[in-house]
Amino acid sequence: MKQTFFTPGPSQLFPTVKNHIHEGLAHNIGSISHRSELFQSLYSSLCNSLQRLFGIPQEYSIFVVSSGTEAMERIIQNCVDKKSYHFFNGTFSKRFYQTAIDMQKQPEKYEVAHGQGYEMERVSIKNDIELICMTHNETSTGVMIPEEFIYNVKRAYPDLLLAIDIVSSVPYVALDYKKIDIAFFSVQKGFGLPAGLGVIVLSPRAIERASFLLARGKTVGASYRRFTDMKAYAARYQTKETPNVFAMYLLGKVLDDLNTIGIEKIRKKTDKNAAFIYDIFKKHQKTYETFVQDPMWQSKTVLVAKVSGGSQRIIQEANEQGFVIGSGYGEYKKTHIRIANFPAHSTSIMRLLGEKLSTLA
Ligand SMILES: *Cc1c(COP(=O)(O)O)cnc(C)c1O
Repeated sequence: MKQTFFTPGPSQLFPTVKNHIHEGLAHNIGSISHRSELFQSLYSSLCNSLQRLFGIPQEYSIFVVSSGTEAMERIIQNCVDKKSYHFFNGTFSKRFYQTAIDMQKQPEKYEVAHGQGYEMERVSIKNDIELICMTHNETSTGVMIPEEFIYNVKRAYPDLLLAIDIVSSVPYVALDYKKIDIAFFSVQKGFGLPAGLGVIVLSPRAIERASFLLARGKTVGASYRRFTDMKAYAARYQTKETPNVFAMYLLGKVLDDLNTIGIEKIRKKTDKNAAFIYDIFKKHQKTYETFVQDPMWQSKTVLVAKVSGGSQRIIQEANEQGFVIGSGYGEYKKTHIRIANFPAHSTSIMRLLGEKLSTLA
């Protein structure tokens, strides 16, 4: 039976990926040297396509790593001597915070309950903080931070570096990159690609910070993952290590596809389909209760509902009919459903899923 994955990562592959894999094999992408001109042009066109899709300023650096989780570690390692500050409301924001603890930093946090947004009046960041960390879309519970809130934080603390985890909101999230210093994502969620690649976008200030810490003898890791060294390699479109060349190739191809479709169109479709599913939840609210109450903070890319009587029956019955929906995360495993609404999910498949959820209610 044909299955469609609505799991929030890994998720449904973008429809063109199968072809790109075949093409990549035909072009021997799995065998080319990462010192070759072909690799350089592949990395360079990936950067160009990403800049084009998101309006990333020319002077920002684009690095590849292995995953979103690795990106968290590299960012703390390179940009924080002692203290980071974390917006904290679920498992993935906790992971960013915990990464800082694991690396023997002294992070601070502003914690709110699962499913809740933040209040600007409660943000209090002391001047010994070096980096502010936010999880744009908390995948475990479906809370998405409004872009305006991010800019308000930046306006209040213009001198501090700001890092945003956009793993499960990319490519939907519309950021003004001039107002942030670091953003990172992996490819197995919104880009609809097989896992195994992470991307970090950095402002010149973020690189300067890494260079400053290095010059003072701080531990910023082995050279292949120091932002200063990575920048030197990236300047000639190379990496020190042998990277996941095939995944970079595929990301470049999907970026081209998304540029062809147009990001605004993708965002509009995402909004429309999110509203449609939230509406289904509302129509059947005896069964599905949207977990995030405040519409301002409801995710458009990971839609989460608490299912009365438990989510396992719904998940299983949907699965039997080819609709692979996500279970709740962690403590919500048996009570929530999570539905990914990524570019790979067409409007028609979201309609079919909506009908399925209705009949199962
Ligand atoms: C999935 C996820 C991560 C972890 O990314 P990996 O590529 O699995 O390491 C981090 N943050 C958020 C918000 C996520 O959804």
